[in-house]
Amino acid sequence: MKYSAFYNIMPDGTVKQINPFTGNEVWAVPERAAKPIQNAATAAEPASLEGIDRAHICAFCSGRYLETAPEKFRYVREGNAWHRHDYLLADQYFATAAEFRCFANLFEIVTLDYWKQNYGYIPSPTDLEKLHRHAATDAGMQHLRGVVEYKRAFRASRNNGQKGGATASKSGNGNAGGNGSGNGNGGANGNGNGQEHRELSNDDILALSEPMYAGCHELIVARNHYHPNGTTQADLLSSGRLTPSEHYHYFKATIESLERIVARNRYVRYVSVFQNWLKGAGASFDHLHKQLVGLDEWGASITRQVTMLKKDPNAFNEYAANFAAMFNLVFAENEHAIAFVGIGHRFPTIEIFSKSRHARPWEHTPEELQGVSDLVHACHAATGAEISCNEEWYYSPIDAVVKMPWHVLIKWRIHVQAGFEGGTSIFLNPMTPIELRDRIVPRLYALRDEGTVQNVLIAEECNIAPNPLNYYL
Ligand SMILES: [Zn+2]
Repeated sequence: MKYSAFYNIMPDGTVKQINPFTGNEVWAVPERAAKPIQNAATAAEPASLEGIDRAHICAFCSGRYLETAPEKFRYVREGNAWHRHDYLLADQYFATAAEFRCFANLFEIVTLDYWKQNYGYIPSPTDLEKLHRHAATDAGMQHLRGVVEYKRAFRASRNNGQKGGATASKSGNGNAGGNGSGNGNGGANGNGNGQEHRELSNDDILALSEPMYAGCHELIVARNHYHPNGTTQADLLSSGRLTPSEHYHYFKATIESLERIVARNRYVRYVSVFQNWLKGAGASFDHLHKQLVGLDEWGASITRQVTMLKKDPNAFNEYAANFAAMFNLVFAENEHAIAFVGIGHRFPTIEIFSKSRHARPWEHTPEELQGVSDLVHACHAATGAEISCNEEWYYSPIDAVVKMPWHVLIKWRIHVQAGFEGGTSIFLNPMTPIELRDRIVPRLYALRDEGTVQNVLIAEECNIAPNPLNYYL
């Protein structure tokens, strides 16, 4: 049996796994699964939201639009219709409520300078024209100045052992998430600790604002910090607490940002798309957002998967969907997507695959996108907002000649790696695949019954035909 090399249940219940795509060796040891899954569950009662201004919790909140980089676009809802507004000017920001906003991460992982110095990348005249248009109003220039000076002060405070950190903490959790204090220029100077900055001229501000228009690290940020009906601080708005329609537009906005990054910079070969939910998963903000980072290579993981596909074009059916089906790990499906528990991951991992012939997210039809979105949404809802998790996207690179199906992994960050793993390269996952499946399935039924999730067949209802992924056609 070809799968036995990758998945073995020992007589004592230990599940030994090797991920067919990464080669990672993982054990799930039964007693470890009994450990408490979430420390928060035993924590004190979450604080009430009564009297709290929910629009000003963090720099991503809807009352603080001017504390982040200028918007590239936003989605606004009017009744059931969704409209995109591109490059609004600063004094237009508060005229509408943005359901989702796209703007640059102030603290880029791959910087504009990286592209300029390593590739001779030149920002396009169109992007620079948008920057100048924004700066042409007083509100716009003040906005840019606030953000640039916040960033400068934050950097200085870091380099200076936190001494100059007055503005960095202004936003509550000033960290690499891309926030700015937006409080004019009052924050950067005058903290009297020797951190002297000369006053920046408007030309300086324009030059320092270039990455916010021409850079390739973007954020998609949701409207609300807490669920609109939430009553306590436990009611954070997670992916699973969006409505299906909101989640669809969240995906749509993310894909549009992806396409624009590719169009903006011809040296980009892959755009990494991910979502870190809560601190335990690496998030600086507990306000829902996705990140997109343009890269000049595919990265080791995608390269390895593409190599596998060259040898076996059906690898993702064979070693993902069919494999999961043979071990009853498929737990949800609809016409356009299928979800199952992943094998050989360091963290309990849900995998959602598009069944489409279209191997890239932006090639999906609206119906296909809705199908994938609905299943990802259902998996997040079944996970619950209290669990830290990473969402990672994988798809065919723009320059790949083989097709890899678009798939999304949701990894539950519910444990800290044990020291054992460094020495052995064997990773301990606290849940067996079956345990993870059995935790999700009853939740999915309940969520569907209450109408929170849609368009999902659950457990035995799934069709599970062989080779359900059509990417190779
Ligand atoms: Zn917020």
